[in-house]
Amino acid sequence: MDSLSRRYISNGLAVNLAKYATNSLNSPVPVNDVKKYVKSILHSKWQSQWDHKDTNKLHSIKRLIACWPSLPIRKLDAFLTTLRVGHTRFTHRHMLLGEPAPLCTACQSQMIVLHILFECPQLLPLFLYRS
Ligand SMILES: [Zn+2]
Repeated sequence: MDSLSRRYISNGLAVNLAKYATNSLNSPVPVNDVKKYVKSILHSKWQSQWDHKDTNKLHSIKRLIACWPSLPIRKLDAFLTTLRVGHTRFTHRHMLLGEPAPLCTACQSQMIVLHILFECPQLLPLFLYRS
């Protein structure tokens, strides 16, 4: 197929698409309604994939794929995200240095954000009295 034939076919395709778009504008269903419908289908499929992926360790942190509300101060928002994900310099520095994971001095559990903030019976009173 020479370039003239290809151009003729692509021009024909463009004309057909333009006719289709023009006809769809005359459709009784508004374009915004179609967009919302397609968006809701894609959102539910994405949520379904998020829910059924076996190796999704972030699912326990974020069950819904909708956006988290963001804080107005960027630095605080980034800090909150690192806590949510559980990857802080304190808890993951050992991976970069090739050292063993740090252990809690109170109960000898692995030092992870979840343990520090919620699980450790020795550290929990520290956080309760701060607020
Ligand atoms: Zn502990």
